[in-house]
Amino acid sequence: MGVDEALEDLLAGISALPAERVDLDDALGLVLAESLEAREDHPAEDISAMDGYAVRAESLRAATPESPVSLPIGEDVRAGFPPTREVTDLECARISTGALVPTGADSVEMREYVEVVEGRAVFTRPIAKGANVRYAGEHLRQGESPLTAGVLMGPAQLGMAAHLGYSQPLCHPRLKVAILATGSELVEGGELARGQIRDSNGIALASAVRQLGCSVSLRERVADDESALDAAIDRAVASSHVLLTSGGISAGWHDLVRERIEGAGGKFVFHKLRMRPGKPVAFGRIGSLWVFCLPGNPVSSLVTFEVFVKPAMLKLMGRPYQPVEVQAELAEPVEKKRGLTVFFRVALEAREDGLLPLARLTGPQASHHLKSLVDADGLMVAGEEVERLEPGQGVKVRLWA
Ligand code: AMP
Ligand code: MG
Repeated sequence: MGVDEALEDLLAGISALPAERVDLDDALGLVLAESLEAREDHPAEDISAMDGYAVRAESLRAATPESPVSLPIGEDVRAGFPPTREVTDLECARISTGALVPTGADSVEMREYVEVVEGRAVFTRPIAKGANVRYAGEHLRQGESPLTAGVLMGPAQLGMAAHLGYSQPLCHPRLKVAILATGSELVEGGELARGQIRDSNGIALASAVRQLGCSVSLRERVADDESALDAAIDRAVASSHVLLTSGGISAGWHDLVRERIEGAGGKFVFHKLRMRPGKPVAFGRIGSLWVFCLPGNPVSSLVTFEVFVKPAMLKLMGRPYQPVEVQAELAEPVEKKRGLTVFFRVALEAREDGLLPLARLTGPQASHHLKSLVDADGLMVAGEEVERLEPGQGVKVRLWA
């Protein structure tokens, strides 16, 4: 199967996971699945926009520096404490930003323009009716929905939900992702015995998962061993929405991942695609668990994550996704095999105004050259038909988002 067809098949079978009530504190990066409506006007009543003096505009009509108007201060109205007195033509109230405007008052003069002499406020200029008052319902009307289903919950959206008084909005849940780095040669950190290598896919995939706002429910290194794999797969089934495995999915004698997933009742939708890197990639399901088997080579594993896992996981979370692509000009000739979609790792070099950035391969492109990804700004995708790309040719580069 080719890349496009595989991706289409994959995404066609996916819809967002059923929504759940989520604490606001855990909702960052989730997609809202309901409308959140204002249950009252915001502000609920007229409030002051300034620290100053609440007055009737009418009573300051004749105020000038030469003949100021002086009013007794009836009370101090603070934010959070309703006023207890009425403001009249013969009285004003000291008022703080956010405090309720007392009955009778229609305007607030800023304290910077008022002198207080012997307990009375002295006004030296008239004021426009309504000045420095935030009206009830000015921000939001009761019944209005500033947040609707499909909204991605970022800081402002979460602030709004709290403002409206919702503590557990209905959201598509955060994906729980199990990661099994398979291979008997894998160790973590430290000294290497002969033949061993350090597991890099475990942390790389876990980070890619977290970058999408998903959580890592399980991360283990698993030997190429039937019972070890079976036990780890069981733990993934019990704990997660998605399982990512790395390694053990090619044609090797000890590549047991496909067989053990099928042993657990798994069914595959595709396995082995006309792509490079990442040819052995497979996708299937064990019951409700979505399973992606990624190749062991570090570049293959991250590229197949980018191309298949990322769009799938975002769709499961209800998030729209369109990879970001930029136009660039190829700096050097590039050859490839016909019949494979190749994802070249390229670095972009900005040029003077009016010229497209130059795209350059990040050195050798073998699937174990993790450095080719470390230095890359994105992927240059060359379709199956392409055999050669010429220097100066316009190309699209898919950025690492
Ligand atoms: P496999 O797909 O299991 O045949 O692995 C392909 C290559 O990737 C082998 O050279 C493995 O040693 C290497 N490899 C497998 N898993 C990892 C891993 N988690 N981190 C780094 N390299 C790996
Ligand atoms: Mg292996």
